[in-house]
Amino acid sequence: MMVFAMFSRRRREQLRAQPFPAEWRAIVEHNLPVFRRLTAQDQAELLCHVNVFLAEKKFEGCGGLTLTDEIRVTIAAQACMLLLHRDTDYYPELTSILVYPSGYTVYEDRWLGGGIWEEGGEDRLGHTARELRAMVLAWDAAKQGAADPSDGRNLVLHEFAHQLDFENQTADGTPALDTRSAYIAWARVMSAELDALRDADDAGLPTLLDSYGATNPAEFFAVATEAFFEQPVALKAHHPALFAELSGFFRQDPTTYTSEPKD
Ligand SMILES: [Zn+2]
Repeated sequence: MMVFAMFSRRRREQLRAQPFPAEWRAIVEHNLPVFRRLTAQDQAELLCHVNVFLAEKKFEGCGGLTLTDEIRVTIAAQACMLLLHRDTDYYPELTSILVYPSGYTVYEDRWLGGGIWEEGGEDRLGHTARELRAMVLAWDAAKQGAADPSDGRNLVLHEFAHQLDFENQTADGTPALDTRSAYIAWARVMSAELDALRDADDAGLPTLLDSYGATNPAEFFAVATEAFFEQPVALKAHHPALFAELSGFFRQDPTTYTSEPKD
């Protein structure tokens, strides 16, 4: 295990040091408008992560989709936004990413374990489950999520937030944190915010966070991650404690690079 870990670390260092292909950079610049707003240092770090991600994860085209560099790079670059500044193991619970051309229909209720349900007969844009070591994404939604970086919705960030949640083995809305006191603070803030979202949802009040986040703590973390990266100014203003927890975990302040309209 140790030998493998060292080997893997060296391999990753080599991958990170590889030059990033110009055609791939053009894809990132075109499909992720947020990329140009990052500092040069963050841009470089992101592209290094993308090199590792693309070498380690297996992509599969499904439903007649032919995989292209555009698809792989656009998904990888969004996934790697969640890794910036963090000591990362590159989504260790994930092996394969299955990409459909667009939303697909799920016909049965299936308990996938770890807090993840698939609802029957519903159109889905994506899902992931720890036991499957796989993620399913609809390409049109993945591309659209990147194209509008401030509408609060981002399928890829949502699904990869679930993967971060899996890193400490349980899909409970709590990713791996450094200290016991960090877990305690996280639990206190998240449960209060989840309760508030449920109350607002029950009362029919408009909420910044998508009400789907009221489903359970795992969905709450995924939905809050979307808001943190896409509407950080509003999140910080209306949910300062939640913003602070997420900012501490992600080691980023997206208010510094967001294109979110300030009103
Ligand atoms: Zn989800």
